[in-house]
Amino acid sequence: MKCRFINKVGWDKKLVNESYPWVEKQIVHRPKFSPFQSALRDSLIDTGVSPYNGFTYDHIYGTKVGGTIFDRFGRRHTAAELLASGNPDKLTVLVHATVQKIVFDTTGKRPKVVGVIFNDENGKQHEAMLGNDVQSEVILSSGAIGSPQMLLLSGIGPKDELQNLNISVVLNNPFVGKGMIDNPMNNIFVPSNRPVDVSLIQTVGITKKGVYIEASSGFSQSNSSIHCHHGIVSAEIGQLSTIPPKQRSIEAIQAYVKSKRDIPVEAFNGGFVLTKVGSAWSVGELKLNNTNVNDNPTITFNYFSHPYDLQRCVEGIRMTIKVVQSEHFTNYTLCKKESMEKILNISVKANVNFIPRHANDTTSLEQFCKDTVITIWHYHGGCHVGKVVDPDYKVLDVERLRVVDGSTFTESPGTNPQATVMMMGRYMGVKILRDRLGRLAGI
Ligand SMILES: Cc1cc2nc3c(=O)[nH]c(=O)nc-3n(C[C@H](O)[C@H](O)[C@H](O)COP(=O)(O)OP(=O)(O)OC[C@H]3O[C@@H](n4cnc5c(N)ncnc54)[C@H](O)[C@@H]3O)c2cc1C
Repeated sequence: MKCRFINKVGWDKKLVNESYPWVEKQIVHRPKFSPFQSALRDSLIDTGVSPYNGFTYDHIYGTKVGGTIFDRFGRRHTAAELLASGNPDKLTVLVHATVQKIVFDTTGKRPKVVGVIFNDENGKQHEAMLGNDVQSEVILSSGAIGSPQMLLLSGIGPKDELQNLNISVVLNNPFVGKGMIDNPMNNIFVPSNRPVDVSLIQTVGITKKGVYIEASSGFSQSNSSIHCHHGIVSAEIGQLSTIPPKQRSIEAIQAYVKSKRDIPVEAFNGGFVLTKVGSAWSVGELKLNNTNVNDNPTITFNYFSHPYDLQRCVEGIRMTIKVVQSEHFTNYTLCKKESMEKILNISVKANVNFIPRHANDTTSLEQFCKDTVITIWHYHGGCHVGKVVDPDYKVLDVERLRVVDGSTFTESPGTNPQATVMMMGRYMGVKILRDRLGRLAGI
């Protein structure tokens, strides 16, 4: 259990302790341990990230091996499988439905949700309306990008921003879309003289410096495209979030394409050891560009705008370099122990993003952090508790609407958040059912 986080959000510990195993039993597995991950484990312990806590779901200082959603046959399991526990007679799942907006009755004292408008896969519009009983409600779980976006599109948000887009204001709440946070990730490249096994994150070092050290390794190549690694893949699919859209000039995109050509050939063999800043303090915001739900909003995370994030990244990179230089890795990858400058130099090239490089990338760890930052996709915020929703995740000053997802977090839980987000789904489901039963029984 992620104790500090659970205390901070004020969840009922007993129900939390029942809800994690409910998820874990259905879709979480013990990983088949790969040699690259063993090298990381041994290097972390030798570098002082101790004690070794073995295989555990607990988030505790030291080095550990965590659970995975890949089973021993390599099959991936997902949150969708948890639906199997539901009662199919009471459940309708519309897989290709895209909600366009939430509809309100604004004639009363407070806006009251009456339903949602959604489009099917053919673009045909439908309405799903709530029943009249007091227990009916809409629960928004569109994630840290989708939920603030949906509230804004539906008229809940900063009045000026809504009016600029001619959206009728249902409720002026200046905090919707604010407090967006993404944990910065920076990679240190581990060169290898031979192809290494493909592995995703299994081992993690949870340091007292506030950074988590994890790794992924091995690549499959086809037609010179690169698959599988966090850093490079994120460069291809997630990179846009690392710089403000206005800075995405033609030159920046050309530099990106060129930098892809410059990826050293060793990058196809080795792996990466990554540093994630645990609880990021730099904060950004999300704003709509238009009223089309299919268009991405603009999100600025302002990576490293808070000096504490930069300080922790530097600490993390320093530790990570020691980890990569340890004999566990050099023996395993058949590479000699390289100097810090050489490791940074190759890592600068192997990390791909749109951010222009600087001459001092290999001599200033601060510059290295800023120039090679990428996302680990653990972004959260936009609908914080106390600002947009109450502690029961009910949208403030609105009736019959909740937000239950990562948009309500002020920090990303655990080393990787999805276990806690899924647990939260079960937790809130049970809590809402209990409340309803209590109400029915007149308690
Ligand atoms: C590429 C990638 C890799 C990741 N890897 C890991 C990992 O290894 N481990 C880990 O712990 N975490 C990982 N994460 C993070 C993790 O997936 C998220 O933290 C988690 O899924 C957040 O859950 P959520 O419920 O808040 O939002 P989501 O899981 O994003 O769920 C939101 C859902 O709402 C849907 N939606 C949005 N808008 C609408 C709309 N208008 N109408 C209908 N549906 C809508 C979306 O399609 C989505 O299905 C990864 C994330 C990404 C993107």
